[in-house]
Amino acid sequence: MQNRGLWKTHTILINMEKVITKSQIKAAVEEAYAECRNLKGGKNADYIPYLANIDPELFGISLTLRDGTTFDFGDTEYKFGVESVSKVLTALLILKQYGAAEVLRQIGADATGLPFNSIFAILLENDHPSTPLVNAGAITACSMVRPQGDSWGKWEAIINNFTDLCGSEAQVIDELYKSESETNFNNRSIAWLLKNYGRIYDDVPMSLDLYTRQCSVGITARQLGICAATIANGGVNPVTGKEVFAPEIAPKITTLIATVGFYQNTGDWLYTSGIPAKSGVGGGVLGVLPGVFGIAAFAPPLDPAGNSVRAQAAVKAVMSRLGLGVFNGDTVRITD
Ligand code: GLU
Repeated sequence: MQNRGLWKTHTILINMEKVITKSQIKAAVEEAYAECRNLKGGKNADYIPYLANIDPELFGISLTLRDGTTFDFGDTEYKFGVESVSKVLTALLILKQYGAAEVLRQIGADATGLPFNSIFAILLENDHPSTPLVNAGAITACSMVRPQGDSWGKWEAIINNFTDLCGSEAQVIDELYKSESETNFNNRSIAWLLKNYGRIYDDVPMSLDLYTRQCSVGITARQLGICAATIANGGVNPVTGKEVFAPEIAPKITTLIATVGFYQNTGDWLYTSGIPAKSGVGGGVLGVLPGVFGIAAFAPPLDPAGNSVRAQAAVKAVMSRLGLGVFNGDTVRITD
């Protein structure tokens, strides 16, 4: 009897393993690129003047496996504004510096169900910034970055963390930074409201400025794909081999991404795509399939919630072509 039980368990495990070849993955990415390339719809973000002027035809998709193999199609070397995707990178930094419990206590991990820049969400959550992946929580996260009180030291920590996660340097696009700084009135209100609730843990203008600066970093789809793959790989950058964060942080950041990565559309996104992902108004999307791969896509025109139309479609197309999903229960094995 006992043996039969063991045999059954073993059979189930075998049945749940999904074997995919690298050429199947490459083909899925290439086909997704071809399918979505001419997809119309959406509009560049225009509340940040710089973003309104980016060529709306740009489009790229990049997928990195845990062994560092990368598949790139389209404009994957174009440096676009990382915008809200930066929230993932700095959330990782404070998870490293403070630990998961302290981030939960000082910011939270709740989905707001509201737009990225919602002031209402702060009031509804009873003075809590909700999650480091919306504007409020991301400004709080910048205020937490160590070393405290040292604007330059904090910025170095933020940008060095970008380099470690992406496997190569990223720099601020000065024109974008200027454009955002001159127009970020809503974020200024958020920062001061959070200060009123005791949720800004350093100088307020400095924390807001760090947030604005990190949103203005120019990043490529390839770099974001590598960053996503570092998360999928439990904190070790698959391209550089560097351990960027401890493995226990990976499920925490992926949970945050899964619960709020597409703001008020997050449930619809996860339900239809099967992959936790984070978007930014620069047109980028970063997706993490834990233990399997990281994926990034970029195209400037956005839907009304601020998520890239073509990047969403491309990531979904890859997932459905490969028959993968974070809740499918498969163990995925990738072969040559
Ligand atoms: N810098 C943008 C803002 O704070 C980022 C928003 C986003 O990408 O969702 O408004």
